[in-house]
Amino acid sequence: MNDKLEQLNLKYGEVADIRATIALLEWDQEVYMPPKGGEARGRQIATLSALAHRLFTDPQVGALLYDLAAAADALEPDARRMVEETLYDYERATRLPESFVHALAEAQSRAFQAWVDARKASSFPQFLPHLERILALQKQKADLVGYAESPYNALLEDYERGMTAAQLKTIFDSLRPQLAELTRRIVQSPRQADLSWLALMQDDAAKWEFTLRLLRDMGYDFGAGRQDRSPHPFTTNFDIDDVRVTTRILPKELFWFSSLHEGGHALYEQGFPKADRRTVLASAPSLGIHESQSRMWENIIGRSLPFWKHYTPVLQSYFPGALESLTPDIVYRTVNHTAPSLIRTESDECTYNLHVILRFEIELDLIEGRITPRDVPELWNTKMQELLGVAVPDDARGCLQDVHWSHGAFGYFPTYSLGNLYSAQLFDAAQRDMPALWQQIEQADFAPLLQWLRRNIHEVGRRKTAAEIVEDVTGQPPHSGPFVAYLKNKYEALYEL
Ligand code: ZN
Repeated sequence: MNDKLEQLNLKYGEVADIRATIALLEWDQEVYMPPKGGEARGRQIATLSALAHRLFTDPQVGALLYDLAAAADALEPDARRMVEETLYDYERATRLPESFVHALAEAQSRAFQAWVDARKASSFPQFLPHLERILALQKQKADLVGYAESPYNALLEDYERGMTAAQLKTIFDSLRPQLAELTRRIVQSPRQADLSWLALMQDDAAKWEFTLRLLRDMGYDFGAGRQDRSPHPFTTNFDIDDVRVTTRILPKELFWFSSLHEGGHALYEQGFPKADRRTVLASAPSLGIHESQSRMWENIIGRSLPFWKHYTPVLQSYFPGALESLTPDIVYRTVNHTAPSLIRTESDECTYNLHVILRFEIELDLIEGRITPRDVPELWNTKMQELLGVAVPDDARGCLQDVHWSHGAFGYFPTYSLGNLYSAQLFDAAQRDMPALWQQIEQADFAPLLQWLRRNIHEVGRRKTAAEIVEDVTGQPPHSGPFVAYLKNKYEALYEL
């Protein structure tokens, strides 16, 4: 058995190495590559992706996995889990014929280009035939991989394994009216935030240094990572000891939040056990759990008053003379400024999930066949009015704003909201375990929290599902209660509702 385990690790290690190389090429594409390099880079990534797929779906890998799974009782718990999880991935990867994978990749690449152009022209009809093609392929994919109840479940599985459309509907149906109501009350409050001081921070180099300071304070290991600039901030890793983040620094923006967000993702990936390196265990069980880490640092900590009691003077010291009248309370209000808006990625904690719920309802209707792509713009605009009270002026700022559907990523959006819900639930548990947590945050002493996250989430890797992690840590299955309580506590006081 040990011999087979070793063979499996060797073969999987090769796949992991190629995937890490692809990630490195993609990182370079976003960070350094000159514009003309795009076509060749696309080819290189496609070649390596096909190679990784071929190596992983090799029948020899399957034979090893089935043999090991049949003798699982003789394996150590970690090895058993590794075999189960790798077999899960193997079966999922082999259920899609290569011709289908190829057709999907091609359709996605065309749809992406069409989406870029359609958004620029703010013309949904330009994107429509591509959305129709992508949707047909997604339905076909659901049939190929198989599902219970709804084809949406087959797609959701790629991002939030174990979660179902029915469960999401229950969670979102309870969240929807509470968020809409809270937002309505906030908009009517006379206590609005002061945003004018953001324009006083002019020095880009100082902004950059401040984001590095935050990452260092959080516990991000610069010996095993680095921060660079890219148009769309992201986190990637090529190994547990090489986890990189990117950010962008734009004028008049709360420029540090991308670093806190990506830093949260990166701490997770730097925290996988080294012994799991080059195996499936060194990864998150779901996107929702991954997102819970970024949102905890960005929102629950980074938009808290204790955090700004510490960091307001620090921020002032990075912009000498410019921010003298700033107080922690002013910053606290500014970073929690809430206003319904058109764009999901620019929205605040209260309205963010309404943007996600809108997308979830539309994509579920599409996948389950209650509507067709042609119906999307009108439905989008109606729901924006209903949920956020906002009139959509054009498709670019409406149903064409996100890249996800052009990539065929149906079932992805809900993981953002699940990240928010998990983060609140997990943070409640951290507070229960560490009564001094807020005092520690006020002193920028994040080590106790990081240790807690390491032990309960990061070091678990894929040994548990998302729901198991949440349930084991908090004693409750995933639910929206703690998140809603968190928002109400904070915003009712802040806006004197
Ligand atoms: Zn994220």
